Amino acid sequence: MTLRNYIIIAALGSVLAVRAQEEPAAPVFRPPFDFPLILSGNFGELRSNHFHGGVDFKTQGEVGKPIHCIADGYVSRVLVTPGGYGQAIFITHPNGYTSVYGHVLKFASAVAKVVEEYQYRHETFAVDLKFEPHQVSFKAGEIIALSGNEGYSFGPHLHMEIRRTDTGELIDPLQFYTDKIKDTTPPRASMIMLYPQRGAGVVEGSQRKKSISVASLGQPVSAWGKIAAGISTYRFIVRGRRQPIEEYHPQVKHYLAWNKGNVVQEPGMELVIPRGMLYEDVALNCHVVKDTAAISYEYQLHDEPVALQAGCTLMIGVRHLPVEDTSKYYVARKWGKRKGSAGGIYENGWMKTSIRELGTYTVAIDTLSPRVTPLNKAQWKTGKVQFKIGDAETGIKDYKVKIDGEFALFGFSSKNAKLWMKHPERLKKGVAHKLELVVTDYCGNETKEEYEF
Ligand SMILES: [Zn+2]
Repeated sequence: MTLRNYIIIAALGSVLAVRAQEEPAAPVFRPPFDFPLILSGNFGELRSNHFHGGVDFKTQGEVGKPIHCIADGYVSRVLVTPGGYGQAIFITHPNGYTSVYGHVLKFASAVAKVVEEYQYRHETFAVDLKFEPHQVSFKAGEIIALSGNEGYSFGPHLHMEIRRTDTGELIDPLQFYTDKIKDTTPPRASMIMLYPQRGAGVVEGSQRKKSISVASLGQPVSAWGKIAAGISTYRFIVRGRRQPIEEYHPQVKHYLAWNKGNVVQEPGMELVIPRGMLYEDVALNCHVVKDTAAISYEYQLHDEPVALQAGCTLMIGVRHLPVEDTSKYYVARKWGKRKGSAGGIYENGWMKTSIRELGTYTVAIDTLSPRVTPLNKAQWKTGKVQFKIGDAETGIKDYKVKIDGEFALFGFSSKNAKLWMKHPERLKKGVAHKLELVVTDYCGNETKEEYEF
């Protein structure tokens, strides 16, 4: 060995040694609950247009279970939203990870104090609050919140995430709890999928993909030509039946490649899909409904929903302006007869918005004010002040309640459209009150109601 080589090896050796020291030790996390962990959702499951970023733990069918901090750390962020996480708390740990706990019912009092102070000072229910590292800290095992069913949650559970603090990358929390979760059931497939290659194969007389339940695999499958299968290990019989296979002529004008940027243009429409937004190639089945009397044409961007990794810009030309105020226009997402708002702003004859899913879109108008229904007025004097609020077109954007001229904090759940008084104890007993409620939708339509009780 020459001296030169030796030096290089020595240098490499020391670099490796330094690296090994900097690599954080494998973190240790305790379970968030004192009762056995049972899962109701896994990391990475495909949801309607995203992958599940955490795990869901069952909470014995109830809300209000104490959530224990999984490691020492400080509160770095708190979210309160009508949908989504509902109420969520973020704990940043010195080991390089941040844990997130969603849909919680109640924060520990030290956290709740900071949040409420902010809500009253800014006269808002929804908050996204960053905490300073010195503000509120917890030791592993201390109670940080009570589990709930808040926000976009349909049953009591805890949604828990673990993220790398530096990059925000979501990691699978289960790897820290493999010894805590009892699972003695081997995985079992329920369906297999057969994919005839377009123009080259058929399954049961069709060139469309076909799913077959594993239970019915006793029956032979009739097929011919080139066929791919998405299966685990299963034995079943495919009976070849010689038959003509129709040639395949793709009718698609737009073929979207997953590994490129794509621009889709049709008369009065442009959709920009940057690289990295598609999970696979899409032969876009595009159809334009040219109703010349309508506010805009209607664009079917594919015949089934396709998820996009992040928002992509969609512009639709507005052909008629039956309402002068352009803030009343929005991009509508359509599912058959049903429609919902995809937001958007009007600019020089175009509606511009950002979409997370391919589907059918058009432009619509919202001039209807939100609906407000007071609930159980007889009980209001006790502090149980509640409303049901709703909006026919674009949805509730904001609301404000004042009692006797002062801001009153009301919670809102988009799940049941209910508004309720968060701190009934603040209501003075034995005197008459005047309540004012203002509700606005995403097109700025406003409903203002006054009540005495
Ligand atoms: Zn979840």
